[in-house]
Amino acid sequence: MLGTSIRLTVESPDGEAVCDKILQRLSEIEQLMSVQIDNSEVNRINALAGISPVAVSESTWTVVTGALRIAEASDGAFDPTIGPLVDAWAIGSDHPRIPEPAEIAALRLLVDWKAVRTDSGARTVFLEKTGMKMDLGGIAKGYAADEAVRIATENGVRSGIMDLGGNLYVMGSKTDSRGKSVPWSLGIQRPDATRGEILGVLQARNCTLVTSGDYERFFEADGVRYHHIIDPRTGYPARSGLVQAGILSPESSMTCDGLSTAVFILGMEKGLALLDKFPGFSGLLVDKDHHVIPGKGFPVADFSMDEEATAPDAGYVLESSRD
Ligand code: AMP
Ligand code: MG
Repeated sequence: MLGTSIRLTVESPDGEAVCDKILQRLSEIEQLMSVQIDNSEVNRINALAGISPVAVSESTWTVVTGALRIAEASDGAFDPTIGPLVDAWAIGSDHPRIPEPAEIAALRLLVDWKAVRTDSGARTVFLEKTGMKMDLGGIAKGYAADEAVRIATENGVRSGIMDLGGNLYVMGSKTDSRGKSVPWSLGIQRPDATRGEILGVLQARNCTLVTSGDYERFFEADGVRYHHIIDPRTGYPARSGLVQAGILSPESSMTCDGLSTAVFILGMEKGLALLDKFPGFSGLLVDKDHHVIPGKGFPVADFSMDEEATAPDAGYVLESSRD
């Protein structure tokens, strides 16, 4: 799940100790929620699908219920029970494949967020149908970023960058060389570009930006790109006309993460309509012709697409600016 490069920057006299605490927490989250780890809580839920509810930690509970909220709001475009289809396509593994239409049709019946039963009193999660499989890969990294920020804050950090691959959280503001407080500059990746190219730079303080794209994990067959974000309505990698969806918020990286995946699947019009239901969350979408469309509330005045934009502090950092 957290199979990504993690880059933590904190302004603190004991930065190293704080980063160690954060890394420990990220590893804990992975142990609970990764489908790659045999005895993770999520895999326990999956093993008991159709059999019995499973009591889960508060962390897993938060992410499962958060995922179900996004599933409901997106009318099932985001579906945390996408597991059977993710497994069938095996994108990002050594043996990706194009499943037969009949196989896809059968597996689609197992993808059904409405068949996830939760009991808040007992804090249990139950997948009602045998063969169902939960996959929190579309949202857990956002929760991990929120937790990184929580721990940093609890340890006195006021300023820093939590960069978990496509999940970025900048805390407070940056102190420039003259000791002045200035916004962070966040690099937004140019879809499809070779590593090191940016689409633009956003000047921002205290916010999270999460990006989903079709270039993150994919394989190609007969000139078609099959990527890792599956549309539950078709069972195939989503083709909504978007190649990238970035979601910005001063609040929850977890919600941004779920929304970025959902908006990517829903496409421009329905994606922007979904964001309307989430005040405080705004989008920057890129379509397949590489038009960049800011949604309602996106701070365009702080966003620069200047080719010569200065190397960002965070996010899609130019190789030359790495420290
Ligand atoms: P992200 O990179 O955040 O957009 O998440 C992509 C990951 O989410 C995939 O690798 C899958 O683990 C999972 N996923 C794929 N399709 C969906 C979907 N329709 N709903 C929820 N999660 C999904
Ligand atoms: Mg996501």
